[in-house]
Amino acid sequence: MDFALFCSRVDILLLLIALCSPCKFIQSPMDFGPLNFHQTTNTSSLDFGRIVFDSPTAVLRPHSPREISLLLSSLSASSSFNKVTVAARGAGHSIHGQAQALDGIVIEMDSLPSAISIHRGGESGSSYADVGGGALWIELLRESLKFGLAPRSWTDYLYLSVGGTLSNGGISGQTFKHGPQISNVLQLDVVTGKGEQVTCSSTESSELFFAALGGLGQFGIITRARILLQDAPQKVKWVRAFYDDFETFTEDQELLVSMPDAVDYVEGFIVLNEHSLHSSSVAFPSHLRFTPEFHGKGRYRVYYCIEFAIHDHQVESTDVERVATQLLRKMSHIPSHFYSVEVSYFDFLNRVRMEEAILRSRALWEVPHPWLNMFVPKSGIGEFKDLLLDNISPTDFGGLVLIYPLLRDKWDANSSAVLPDGGGRAEEQVMYIVGVLRSANPATCAAQCLQDLLRRHRRVAQAATAPRIGAKQYLARHPSQGHWQDHFGRHWDRFVARKAQFDPLGILAPGQGIFPRTHASSS
Ligand code: FAD
Repeated sequence: MDFALFCSRVDILLLLIALCSPCKFIQSPMDFGPLNFHQTTNTSSLDFGRIVFDSPTAVLRPHSPREISLLLSSLSASSSFNKVTVAARGAGHSIHGQAQALDGIVIEMDSLPSAISIHRGGESGSSYADVGGGALWIELLRESLKFGLAPRSWTDYLYLSVGGTLSNGGISGQTFKHGPQISNVLQLDVVTGKGEQVTCSSTESSELFFAALGGLGQFGIITRARILLQDAPQKVKWVRAFYDDFETFTEDQELLVSMPDAVDYVEGFIVLNEHSLHSSSVAFPSHLRFTPEFHGKGRYRVYYCIEFAIHDHQVESTDVERVATQLLRKMSHIPSHFYSVEVSYFDFLNRVRMEEAILRSRALWEVPHPWLNMFVPKSGIGEFKDLLLDNISPTDFGGLVLIYPLLRDKWDANSSAVLPDGGGRAEEQVMYIVGVLRSANPATCAAQCLQDLLRRHRRVAQAATAPRIGAKQYLARHPSQGHWQDHFGRHWDRFVARKAQFDPLGILAPGQGIFPRTHASSS
C-alpha cells in the first residue's frame, strides 16, 4: 500500500502498531501498555466461508483478558481512535467475514491461556467447567472426559471456539433436549466495548449475560464461560432410518423429540444424490444396503434420513439395543432401511472431524462455503423444503442439507438469539433448523458460479422470511441495518438499547455489519 495513503488511513497509534514488527511489544503514547500487536497473521482476514477477506490493520494476540480491557478502554476513552473497530476471532469458522475487522484490530482469542477447570457437582449443585472464551469445544470435551463428564449441548463440529458459538447459539442434535449451547451456560466473564471486565450470570449483571448469549459479539468479548456438564456416556447407539416421503420423515422426527427420556440426539438430512448418501458420515457407508432410485418414475426424487442416538452408560439398568428397537417400531421409515452402529462417545461427538480429514485429502475443505442456515416454523417446513429444492440442483449439489426439529421452550427469550416470531400468529413450539451446507469446489464452480449460488440463497432466504413461512436466518450477515432491523423484528429495540449500554461507540464485531462505528464526541 502507498505509504501516504496508509498514513491518511490510520492514526498515529495504529501507525506505530503497523510499523512494529511481528511479536514486538510496543509502549504506545496512549498508555496501551505492552500489548502484543502483530501487523497481520495468516488467518486474520480469512474464515471458513472464503467469501469475504477483509484485512485488519493490526492483530492483537492477548495473554490475558486484562489486555483486551486495556485496548477497549483506551479506544473508548480517546477521540483519536474514532474509526478503530475490534473483532474477536475465535476459530474463524464464520461464513461471511463476521470475525473480520476491515482496517481495524482483530483479537485472536486462541492466544488466551487455555486452562480448563472442571468442578464435579454433588448434592449441592451441578457439575460445570470454567473455560476460556478462545478455547475450542474439542479441548473442553477432552478435558471433561477425564472426569467422566461432558457438556450437554453441542455443535456438530468441535473445532469451534466457546466464545464464537456462544455468540451465535450453538445447535446440534441435543438441542431439542437440552436447548442450544447458550441455554447451558451458568456464568460469563465479559469485557464490554467500554473495556469493563464484568462477571455476569442470570442473576448478576444479567442484562449483559443475556445480551452476550447469541449477541453476535456486539456487546463484549467473552473471556471465560462456565458451562454445565453432565455424566458422559461410554458409548452411543447411533441409528439411521430412511424415508421417501417428507411428511413421514418430519412426523417421525417430531415423534422422537417428544421422547427426551429415551432419545439423546435427533438430526436428519435430505438424501439429494449418491454423494450426500455416502459423504455424510464415515461410520455408515460400509453398512448401507440402501440404493435409492433417484431417477425413478420419470422424475428426479430425493430421500430423507433421520439419525438419532441413545447414550449408553453401560450400566445394567439400560439396554440401548432394546430402546432403539422399541423406537424404530414406532417409526414409519422405509421398511428394512435402518442401520445402527455403536461408537465411543468421543468418536460420535467428533464425527465431522473424520469427514474433514476426507475432504482435506481431496483438497475440498479449504474451498468457498456458501452456506445458508434458517430456523423455519413447523407450519412452513413443507413449503420451505419445496422452495429449497426448486432452487438447488440436486444432481450436482456438493455438501449436505440438514433438517431437524428444535423446541422453542428450550431457548431463553432473554438471550439475543433470534427465532421465528410467529409473524402475528401464535409462536409454534416446534421449529426446524435447516442448514444448506454447500461447498463450492473452485475446479467446477469459479467466481461467477459462487456469486450465482449466493444469489440463489438470498432468493430462498428472502422468500422464506416473508410472513407466509416466517423463517429467520441463523449465522447470517445481513446487507444493511434495515435488514438487521427486520431480522430482529420486535427485539430490535432491545438489541439497540443493549448496544448503547455496552458498546456505545460501535467498536465491536464490525464484520457483522449491524452498527456503524461512532465518534466518542458524538456519543
Ligand atoms: P468466529 O467465526 O471466530 O466468530 C464468530 C462471531 O463471534 C464473530 O462476530 C466474532 O467477532 C464473535 N466472537 C468470536 N469469539 C468471541 C468471543 N470470545 N466473545 C465475543 N464474540 C466473539 N453452528 C452451530 O450452531 N451448530 C453446528 O453444528 C455448527 N457446525 C459447524 C460446522 C462447521 C464445519 C462450521 C465451519 C461451522 C459450524 N457452525 C455450527 C457455525 C459456528 O457455530 C459459527 O460459525 C461460530 O461462529 C463458529 O465459532 P468460531 O469460534 O469459529 O467463531
